[in-house]
Amino acid sequence: MNGRQPIDVRALSAPELLRLVLDTPDVGKNLFRCDQCGFEVVMLGGSDEGSCRCLECDGTCAPLELQWWARAAARMRSVCRRDKTLIPRLLAEWRARHGDVPLPPLPDPFSWLNVAWKQTRARGRPIDAVSHYTLAHMVDRLQAAGISLGQILRLLRTPDLAGPKIVYDQLPDRTRRFLGKDFRDQLGGLPFVSSRAEMSRRLRWARTQWTDPLARLRGERVRIRRKKT
Ligand SMILES: [Zn+2]
Repeated sequence: MNGRQPIDVRALSAPELLRLVLDTPDVGKNLFRCDQCGFEVVMLGGSDEGSCRCLECDGTCAPLELQWWARAAARMRSVCRRDKTLIPRLLAEWRARHGDVPLPPLPDPFSWLNVAWKQTRARGRPIDAVSHYTLAHMVDRLQAAGISLGQILRLLRTPDLAGPKIVYDQLPDRTRRFLGKDFRDQLGGLPFVSSRAEMSRRLRWARTQWTDPLARLRGERVRIRRKKT
């Protein structure tokens, strides 16, 4: 069992479904949904009985019907035909998360995607997911040590590698004890941040990805800026 997914697969748009299919090994077999309350769970390797008792109610969880997935796959395929940028974006997201690991071949009714995937080049600026996560972890630790966001920003804006360590060495003793000895060395791996606005955007992105599975399915990017009116 791979934990609860607080999303309703039947309410997802075609691009969201595509991300779910790419994210969940053999989703047609492994995604179990309750016929009564809609509770969903991913059972890697399926289930011997083909169904299981719902953890939330008296209902039964089972994979969605093959026909449902076939219709969903047709929807995904037609959206990919209409929007030629979609698969390139999905490929860029895959690379951001998995690096050079190739996509495992998808079974029917998604096998058309294997072919399309191979013919695709990633599009757009790669998403620097790892550095956003690293940044968010570091900022959390620094804030827990009582360092203000303004001070953290000063640390992150120091362009040369020794800079953060110099700032660190000026912190009070008790703060440095709290952060631990190894933290000073990890500071060398801190991502450079140019402004408070950039830091906020990156932190917001990482925290949303941690807490909101739907944000991942939507493929949200970091630099979403509202148009000025
Ligand atoms: Zn249920």
